[in-house]
Amino acid sequence: MPVGESSRPYVVCPVCGHVFRATYASTYVTVGREADLCPKIPGRPSDGARLIRNAVTMCPVCSFAAGEAFDGLDLTFDERYGIEERLKEDGLLKVFRKGQPPWLGFHAAEVCGKERSLKSRELGDLCLRASWVCRKEKERPFESTFQLRALRHFMRSLQEDDLIGRELSVTTYLVGELNRRLGNHREALNWYVNAGRTTEGDPRIAWLDRLINRQSKLAREQVA
Ligand SMILES: [Zn+2]
Repeated sequence: MPVGESSRPYVVCPVCGHVFRATYASTYVTVGREADLCPKIPGRPSDGARLIRNAVTMCPVCSFAAGEAFDGLDLTFDERYGIEERLKEDGLLKVFRKGQPPWLGFHAAEVCGKERSLKSRELGDLCLRASWVCRKEKERPFESTFQLRALRHFMRSLQEDDLIGRELSVTTYLVGELNRRLGNHREALNWYVNAGRTTEGDPRIAWLDRLINRQSKLAREQVA
């Protein structure tokens, strides 16, 4: 088994009851992070993408997917029904289920997460991770697609999720950084300023202040 992976004998899909072997993410070595917090993982990018992908488990039969261990999920009858319907009707799943592109598990987890009423912050996180996998796998158009979706979830999260402290600062920063990556440099600058206001010189997130300064400079050069 490759380093950084650990397997359990089997999991039971909480939606269709299919039993299968799953690979769960375990800790892996990183050498820092990119400006959108994508972990830098030694070795080939595709190996890194695989380790990030292990954060979600997807049922090979019905495509139910989640970022948590399946056995910890307790779905109601209505949730199960709603998830089945969403998975059946989802356009991307219809087209890509067979080909199993590397981002598919995150997309499926987002679809299911909406039915499970996950917070916008968590839905955004799934989309952000999908964009990391796309970058490492050089799937450019899908990278942008997932960045835009992550951006929308994070914006909603700032309005609805009552974020505080580090999570508020990081989410606000990510709205800036995703805007920058999508080419909205002025918008990015505004959000970096907002993010800077939330850190209030907290020494535990001094790394974020440094990142905000560095990325603001980049965005400013693009605007000028
Ligand atoms: Zn299933």
